[in-house]
Amino acid sequence: MRFTKITASIGPNCEDKKTLTNMIKAGVNVCRLNFSHDTGEIQGAKIDMIRSIAADLNKPVAIMVDIQGPKHRIGDFETENHYPLKIGQKFILDSDTTPGNEHRVCLPDADVMKSLSVGDRVLLNDGKIELKVDAVFDDKIETTVVRGDEIWSRRGFNLPDTDVDTDILTEKDKKDLEYAITKKPDYVALSFVQSAEDVADVRDFIMMRSSHPVKLIAKIERPNAVERITDIATAADGIMIARGDLAVEVPFEQVPAISRHIIRECRKLNRPVIMATQMLSSMVHSEFPTRAEISDVANASYLRTDSTMTSEETTIGDNPVNVIETMDKILSYADKDAIENPFDWSRIDNVPENDWSRSVSSMAYLNKAVAIVVFARDTDIATQISCRRPDIPIIAVCGDETTASQLCLLRGVFPICDDYLFGQRDAFGAVRKFGIGFGKLVIVDDDKISLRTID
Ligand code: PEP
Repeated sequence: MRFTKITASIGPNCEDKKTLTNMIKAGVNVCRLNFSHDTGEIQGAKIDMIRSIAADLNKPVAIMVDIQGPKHRIGDFETENHYPLKIGQKFILDSDTTPGNEHRVCLPDADVMKSLSVGDRVLLNDGKIELKVDAVFDDKIETTVVRGDEIWSRRGFNLPDTDVDTDILTEKDKKDLEYAITKKPDYVALSFVQSAEDVADVRDFIMMRSSHPVKLIAKIERPNAVERITDIATAADGIMIARGDLAVEVPFEQVPAISRHIIRECRKLNRPVIMATQMLSSMVHSEFPTRAEISDVANASYLRTDSTMTSEETTIGDNPVNVIETMDKILSYADKDAIENPFDWSRIDNVPENDWSRSVSSMAYLNKAVAIVVFARDTDIATQISCRRPDIPIIAVCGDETTASQLCLLRGVFPICDDYLFGQRDAFGAVRKFGIGFGKLVIVDDDKISLRTID
């Protein structure tokens, strides 16, 4: 039983029924649909297909809708479409909507224009271009090029030093989200979150339109979000460490330390955490991962992350099923090793000794239990126990499908939706479905905790 879950980004090379079925069979637990690319009914059809495959395979799979968020872009250039920017030259970002040239380009977003200050950095092309703000006027920003490269029309940019005073949801996002929630996704991931208020705003937006208990994942990709991680994680239901943009916005050597910090905060706050981006990117075209990628995926398990995530390697990769099989193999081995050699920092728990979920975990440990069985009315109890990382399977017997699919993301939680087992509180029947035939079980049913032996 693999403890670290796999979130797979779904894109053009893996959206046919056969490939998706084989990916789910190979171990996908969560399917991520990125609304930066397809939107509306095209994504809706994929959600329907994933659900029907999951039902055919009798395997719960969570659906995560990823909303583009306020990604800022420069305007168009004149005929050339792109220009080289040279170190030391001046470059202007302005509100003039006419096509740009080697001296200037339009900055269409007024919120960005008013948020920038002297000294702030503007990063383009994944940080290959760095502009430093020299002067700010109502209708233009004067900058100096500190790092140069080709600048292209409509490229996105990052603002690591700026708190951008902008809504978390753009008009496009609102339209996408309005449609997405009609499909009752398990998770909605929010891009470029800057504060707990951003998360609360999206929650309000959804609650005004739907009673479906969708969970919100805040993507951490900005330095101000890292600083506010405790508030953001408290407001959200989970965190994604979005290392792609994060490594542009913070000095890249800080990303591993930030990741460790976020994982520890999330465990303390009972929030699942996803490690994302470039986990197996060489496999877009290669049959095998690099040595560094193998270590990166394994280290996510050693850090006891809830889930790793695939990106281009599944969306546009040559062999998405091979990617999932590879990730499954690396995680399964590392999970087993982490459990057999548990005396590392990641087991150190920073929740109070008298916390009830810690007591459940300790009870399981002291009694050498083989599994914890939770009768789950919702995700709360299984989530809290999972965050104590008890290192034995948590079998979550659910009375409804939404709870079961949402629990697919949680480390070490194996959800099963079965009215009979749930109604009868049949812990033995539940663990037998996972091949557990003897040993001690810790059973959690609301606030009742008991120990029983199956033989
Ligand atoms: C990231 O930046 O790492 C990320 C996951 O974001 P996206 O792929 O949505 O740009």
